[in-house]
Amino acid sequence: TDHSPSRLPEPRVAASVATSTNSHLEIDAATKNFGSQAVLRGVNLSVTKGGTTAIVGPSGSGKTTLLRLIAGFEHPDTGSISLNGAKVAGDGVWVPAHKRHVGYVAQDGALFPHLSVGQNISFGLDAARLPGGHRGVKARVSELLAMVSLDPSMAKRRPHELSGGQQQRVALARALAREPELMLLDEPFSALDAGLRVATRRAVGKVLHDARVTTILVTHDQGEALSFADQVAVMRGGRLAQIGNPFIVYTRPADRATAEFLGDAV
Ligand code: ADP
Repeated sequence: TDHSPSRLPEPRVAASVATSTNSHLEIDAATKNFGSQAVLRGVNLSVTKGGTTAIVGPSGSGKTTLLRLIAGFEHPDTGSISLNGAKVAGDGVWVPAHKRHVGYVAQDGALFPHLSVGQNISFGLDAARLPGGHRGVKARVSELLAMVSLDPSMAKRRPHELSGGQQQRVALARALAREPELMLLDEPFSALDAGLRVATRRAVGKVLHDARVTTILVTHDQGEALSFADQVAVMRGGRLAQIGNPFIVYTRPADRATAEFLGDAV
């Protein structure tokens, strides 16, 4: 089936998944209303395994809501979502968030302020299932801190003792603790100043790439979308107005409104 809206240029990735088994995420005509407000108006999106997709678009266009649907924090009203070829939402199916192997990092990281860094990271770990019980948890926390380029000694600190960039890395380590196959990043670097933003993005990008985690990144930053993603999706008014190779999206916007938005986003 062709998931692309007919008025758009054929999305490269969506075209290839129909004939391959390499699809990780398929969203088919998903809609979501809050009260009388239609926030998602029929979203189609395909993401290949190990692929990186950037979602850009004006604020209020539905980007966070779309991520929350993928994570399993919200139900779609109509349409469906599949992961690895199996339906997880829609048509009477519902697979809860904790069974989707999906990680989610919010804009502010949202660490638990009263827990140490180590406790934040181990929150998602099941001590009973790790070799070595609680000692195993400690080792795993150190390993996760190393993955995001933080010293093991950080485990004892409280979130407020860390810089913004370090807190974001801890939030990522906490999400990685559950070994997600798909990572959803909701503007995770936007609170950081420019230098730290680039460094943190590189570190995070490398971790996800090395672990071959499929990644969807919501961002306002065009440079970030271009450097991070192999597919860019432009969201507007609850729809994906254009999906494709970043270079094509930025050099050949599908319509005037997309061109204006991308121009503004520079
Ligand atoms: P974006 O991430 O693109 O800024 P959002 O998905 O956060 O957009 O929000 C889209 C619209 O949906 C906004 O108008 C927002 O106020 C509304 N919205 C989001 N979540 C809820 C909710 N839980 N209840 C009511 N309205 C919501």
